[in-house]
Amino acid sequence: MSVTTRVESFRLKRPQEIDKMRVAGRILGACLSEVAAAVKPGLTTLDLDKVAETFIRDHGAIPGFIGYNGFPNSICISVNDEVVHGIPGKRVLQEGDLVSLDCGVIIDGWWSDSGYSVACGEASPEVLRLIDVTSQALERGIAMARPGNHISDIGHAVQTFVEGEGFSVVRQFVGHGIGRDMHEPPQVPNYGRPGFGNVLKPGYVLAIEPMVNAGRPEVHIIDDQWTVVTDDRRLSSYAEHTVAVTEHGPEVLTRRPDERVEAGAA
Ligand code: MG
Ligand code: MG
Repeated sequence: MSVTTRVESFRLKRPQEIDKMRVAGRILGACLSEVAAAVKPGLTTLDLDKVAETFIRDHGAIPGFIGYNGFPNSICISVNDEVVHGIPGKRVLQEGDLVSLDCGVIIDGWWSDSGYSVACGEASPEVLRLIDVTSQALERGIAMARPGNHISDIGHAVQTFVEGEGFSVVRQFVGHGIGRDMHEPPQVPNYGRPGFGNVLKPGYVLAIEPMVNAGRPEVHIIDDQWTVVTDDRRLSSYAEHTVAVTEHGPEVLTRRPDERVEAGAA
């Protein structure tokens, strides 16, 4: 059975629990803005990791990625043909790189998970368009996160938009429920037909995270056992928000203070 058709059971989050996730989300949104502002040619990806870890700890929170399944750092940094799960290290950022940031925060036992791609310095029109389409795809997916819709309506909206722009969505990695753990049911694919999977209601909290490739959708993990790259080695971009389904519609818990969102978005 495809992940888009399966119905998964789990406990809905209570309003007081979503309040705690809102705090975790606010810290993470601000952290990502800080890291993105630091992206510039000549810095290493490990320099950016230090910015993230310092920010999170200074705000009394825990960098959730450290030690998660053995991941060594506070933030995943994936450059150009790297899709997700890049490990910070000695790599020096170059003018025009597409830099994907993905980070997680825990406070009071509750998680937030978010990220986005930015250009390092002056980048090509292709880099900028891929980043823009990815963030628009995320917003289209978020707009579907409302009571009465099915889980697969999210991925359907993402895939339809991305493919209409001439790019492709990654199938091998999906979004997820989030709460006391980073990865909880249900899975949230970025593709598929509408009308399948769980029916959303208030108390769902989802990490929606389209990965958009300039070329083919296939990806693989390299020898470091973490970094995911495109099979065709073309560019990939990423965007993720932690989103609570409320009776009024989606509430994005990880909005960045400087994030520009189209009118009508949550
Ligand atoms: Mg993430
Ligand atoms: Mg995630």
